[in-house]
Amino acid sequence: MTYASEKSLSLRLRQFAHYSLYWQLLMLVALAALLVIPLFFQAPKYIWQTPWNNAQLFSEWVLWALWYPGTLLSVLLVGRLWCGVLCPLGAMSEWASHIGMRVRLPQWVKHPATTALSFVWVTIWAQTLDVRDDLHSAAILFAIIFVLAIGCGLLFGSHNSQGRRVWCRHLCPIGSVLGVFSRLGKLNVMAKQPHGDTEGYRIDGLCPTGIELRTKQSSRHCIKCMRCVTPQKRGGMAIEVRPIGDEIQHIEQHAPCFSELWFIWLAPGLAVAGFVWSSSPIYVSLRQWLGHFALSHQWYTWLQPGPNWLMEQSSALNQHYLWLDMISIGIFMLLCALILAGLLALGAMAGARLLGHRHLLMSQRISEFGYQFAPMAMLCILLGLGSTLFASLKSELGGGERPLLLVLVGAALAFNLLHGQRWLRQQNLSPLRAIAAFSVLLSGCLCLVLATGWSIFPALSI
Ligand code: SF4
Repeated sequence: MTYASEKSLSLRLRQFAHYSLYWQLLMLVALAALLVIPLFFQAPKYIWQTPWNNAQLFSEWVLWALWYPGTLLSVLLVGRLWCGVLCPLGAMSEWASHIGMRVRLPQWVKHPATTALSFVWVTIWAQTLDVRDDLHSAAILFAIIFVLAIGCGLLFGSHNSQGRRVWCRHLCPIGSVLGVFSRLGKLNVMAKQPHGDTEGYRIDGLCPTGIELRTKQSSRHCIKCMRCVTPQKRGGMAIEVRPIGDEIQHIEQHAPCFSELWFIWLAPGLAVAGFVWSSSPIYVSLRQWLGHFALSHQWYTWLQPGPNWLMEQSSALNQHYLWLDMISIGIFMLLCALILAGLLALGAMAGARLLGHRHLLMSQRISEFGYQFAPMAMLCILLGLGSTLFASLKSELGGGERPLLLVLVGAALAFNLLHGQRWLRQQNLSPLRAIAAFSVLLSGCLCLVLATGWSIFPALSI
């Protein structure tokens, strides 16, 4: 893209972001309407009810088949533009921050692992609440998250003229996924005159997520609010349009982070397990074993139903989860996530050894190699968390969605391997080492393909 067209794109995006208040209000009203109005209509009871003849099913379909996968996919083009310009949650946190109490941010909030843990916790919680099949539970989940986001703004915001997005940078569970995969995105905001070797953090600057602008290197915390973009000036920040996956391919220049890496490895297993647990015989055996264990130790609380803000309790759907269900779902999802993450970590370690001649610490080499699994990891999460979309495709196409999904997996695998191969070429390895490193990359990607296959063909699960 030429300089002139990037400048004109910057101007258009700035104009779009200028009206963010209206977009955010619109999204807030739309989300509230989707979550609240259908609760006054009949809950789905019969097999013949579909999103087109039941208001609650329609809302669930919009939320989990369109909104969630659509937001995740949008990062490939525009990065975290959703967070900065459209998201009502981030907006309300920022509005609250204007009257914030200016409490100093604790170190644990700032720790990069906090966002990843927030995603892990909310993904498991969403399953124990069964938010995909019960709109009432989804409304409870969103209400609690809204309260937390606003509370975060009130606690950590300050009275200065700039709104703060502590929630979006450090705590938002969706922001953590969007942040990691925005590194693959085409749109980037970068300093016209960059400074320094490491990315800085500045809580009182112009950037609402605390990025020290002149040192900005990575996309993950940039919510594309466009406040810093100055197309008319020589200095400041500019929009850059780059090939998809470029930041991962040159990850050594873009502030790689070990906690983020663990997130890339853990999240796919968690997302797939969230989709398949209810149909998995392994889950059934695990639940039975835990049930016997609880009985043999006379832990009868495990066999009691829990509170409805923590686990599904629906008379309309005749579903009442026990503490045992919550514990079993949590353990099953965490085990799946850890097994897949362990395999990817082993792959990254083996790959890092093959890059051995470089003057980098082993942890840096593992980190750089580990990021090369990101495209397949993103697909795994998309298919796991976007399962409602594929379930509705299934009911429309009667099984014809599977070839479509397999093409999608094939395309993502080819893209991942092509990028990985380009990245390996940059490492100047001997032909033998390059072939061995590529084989390691291929093995890791195939693990992710198998996990994805499990979400496409859950009936084959052992
Ligand atoms: S870097 Fe600029 S566009 Fe990105 S979040 Fe900060 S102020 Fe907004």
